Amino acid sequence: MDAPAQTAASTVAAGIINPITGRRFVRSWRFGALMQEARLLYGQLERELGVTLWYDTPLVRTLFNRGEQNDWLARGGDQGYAEYLEDTPPLGNIPELTYPAFAYGGVRQTARVDLAALTAAYRAWLRKRNCLGEQPFDYGQLPPGYDRYVFCEGWRVRDNPYFGHLPRGGTKGEALLVRPDGPLLDRMLKHRVFLVPLADRGSYWVGASSANQFTDDAASPATEKYLADRLREVLRLPFTVEAHLAAVRPTVRDRRMIIGTHPTHPQLIIFNGLGTKGASLAPLGSRWLFDHLETGAPILPEVDSQRFAP
Ligand SMILES: Cc1cc2nc3c(=O)[nH]c(=O)nc-3n(C[C@H](O)[C@H](O)[C@H](O)COP(=O)(O)OP(=O)(O)OC[C@H]3O[C@@H](n4cnc5c(N)ncnc54)[C@H](O)[C@@H]3O)c2cc1C
Repeated sequence: MDAPAQTAASTVAAGIINPITGRRFVRSWRFGALMQEARLLYGQLERELGVTLWYDTPLVRTLFNRGEQNDWLARGGDQGYAEYLEDTPPLGNIPELTYPAFAYGGVRQTARVDLAALTAAYRAWLRKRNCLGEQPFDYGQLPPGYDRYVFCEGWRVRDNPYFGHLPRGGTKGEALLVRPDGPLLDRMLKHRVFLVPLADRGSYWVGASSANQFTDDAASPATEKYLADRLREVLRLPFTVEAHLAAVRPTVRDRRMIIGTHPTHPQLIIFNGLGTKGASLAPLGSRWLFDHLETGAPILPEVDSQRFAP
């Protein structure tokens, strides 16, 4: 069941898969295993749904000053980082299309998953099989005839009375879809914001903002201006804003997924906490949940919903 009139993080996300994130260039948790499962699952979904979802796309990060460059070079010497960092990455058409920067670092093993195409194609697949209820879920009345109910509600889990004991997370994010007056970059660029070329549409995904305090999940003119200004700082070409997207990421304070069964009602199951990295976390997380439900495999304590048991 899904209420399509609501915003959903999955339909606005860029779907970037990135092993090195943040200002301190930290390696993502269990990245090798996540990547392996992601390639497998998105490949299966591409074949089943008949759509392209996976794009192997290099990522170049702007290093804004000597300090950042030193941190980058030092990070490359840390154990387990060399396979992900490139000190002198190929820049493709970045110099031609953007203003020069102090320096660049390359991130290896990056990709983009077209989550908007995935959600649209999967919705159509479910509809065709008469398997999708498209209305808000009535918590007062669990639909009869099922052994289990799996809740994947993103940040709106806060409205779920069965899981009211979970922490109330959420980080609002906004992004723009932008058409440049000229060619697209041939790789992703992380400057002040991410520029993600969507070659099939001739546009960029540009984002994102991040706000822990928010009163609604709507796109705001101030953030549109902020993102367009950041884009103008880097892109030489004029551009047109074609769409402004907004949604809330299901972030959790310990930054781990939330997977497991209700403490006292084992037929109620939760899969949440995908935070800022749903594209890479969801495939392995859902595999863990499936194995747990089908074979009783234990859930990793770090992601087990029982860590928040009342
Ligand atoms: C601007 C932005 C950029 C992002 N960029 C990236 C990125 O590049 N890479 C990455 O990996 N991640 C990114 N993310 C994060 C990613 O989008 C999330 O981790 C992921 O999409 C969360 O998926 P979800 O299914 O848990 O939640 P959602 O996608 O929000 O889906 C929850 C669904 O549950 C439905 N629902 C909730 N309550 C009810 C109810 N009561 N009845 C019926 N239906 C209900 C909602 O309608 C919605 O469809 C980004 C997020 C944002 C906002």
